[in-house]
Amino acid sequence: MITTESVRTLQDYDTSERFVARVISNEPITPPGAEAEVRELVLEVQRPDFPYEVGQSVGLLAPGDPALGEYEHFRLYSVADLPESEPEGLPRIKLCVRRCTYLDEVTGERHPGVASNYLCDRQPGDRITLTGPFGLVFEVPEEHDANLILIGSGTGIAPFRAFVKYLYRKVPDWAGRVWLLYGAKSGLELLYMNEEKDDFAQYYDRETFEAFKALSPRPSWADPIAWDQAIEARGEELWAMFGDPKTYVYVAGIAESLADLDHVFARLAGSPEKWARRKAELRAGRRWVELVY
Ligand SMILES: Cc1cc2nc3c(=O)[nH]c(=O)nc-3n(C[C@H](O)[C@H](O)[C@H](O)COP(=O)(O)OP(=O)(O)OC[C@H]3O[C@@H](n4cnc5c(N)ncnc54)[C@H](O)[C@@H]3O)c2cc1C
Repeated sequence: MITTESVRTLQDYDTSERFVARVISNEPITPPGAEAEVRELVLEVQRPDFPYEVGQSVGLLAPGDPALGEYEHFRLYSVADLPESEPEGLPRIKLCVRRCTYLDEVTGERHPGVASNYLCDRQPGDRITLTGPFGLVFEVPEEHDANLILIGSGTGIAPFRAFVKYLYRKVPDWAGRVWLLYGAKSGLELLYMNEEKDDFAQYYDRETFEAFKALSPRPSWADPIAWDQAIEARGEELWAMFGDPKTYVYVAGIAESLADLDHVFARLAGSPEKWARRKAELRAGRRWVELVY
């Protein structure tokens, strides 16, 4: 599910234009012991003109189960870094994929999710079928001194990894503040922000960049991400930014975070009604954009 003004269901996507991608590597980026397994795939796209814009996703067409009447299984994945081109000219993209399960509502049993397990099990050299890329594009605001508040949970960090790199590499006069709020169930599941892979470290010395981590206090109890602790520490500043017409808020990742965020922001605002009004203003001005699933 993508929630934006332009809500689309998966059936609405035109998947007729397809291309092949070759798996270059497929490595875990969560350590053993983490509740979730997340892997990073590097793919060589067999399409020299791959028309990517920052924030976009690609569609995967995984083999379905014909016995269930499903010949292909279509799912979307954010492009998790700026594409790089190899000497022979073929672009390479990265995807950051969490191995998922789904609940069979009739039997109550959990089964492996088709697309995510298909991707997580690919080996170097394998070929997969992709389509897209598709919006939703997180736009760089026209005012280069705008405030950007990027809120990612779980694999929702993936589009922001590309976005932040794009901002600091390709928008040389970017002078606005960038706050990255990142939520995960545990320190083991912090993607691209841990000791092994800290892609955001290169921006920590930028005066304009700040990153905040929010973790669940008791991950094995499946507690929600503790957004309140991370957010309320800088609550006044954040609330002031929400009132600034040059503030853009982009949210990506697991849908269940939306309600938790509303709860924390309502406390900052003083009441749920005040927060609902402020959020509606941001949304109306296309200054609140969500990509959640
Ligand atoms: C625009 C867009 C971008 C996306 N980008 C990514 C991405 O970069 N990385 C990624 O792993 N997934 C991403 N997803 C989710 C992805 O499309 C699939 O829904 C997911 O991989 C599960 O597909 P499946 O066929 O394995 O299982 P399904 O049977 O479709 O789903 C199994 C269950 O997993 C839950 N779920 C789905 N994705 C996640 C997730 N990432 N974290 C926690 N729970 C999840 C679903 O709500 C569902 O309950 C994105 C979705 C959208 C709409």
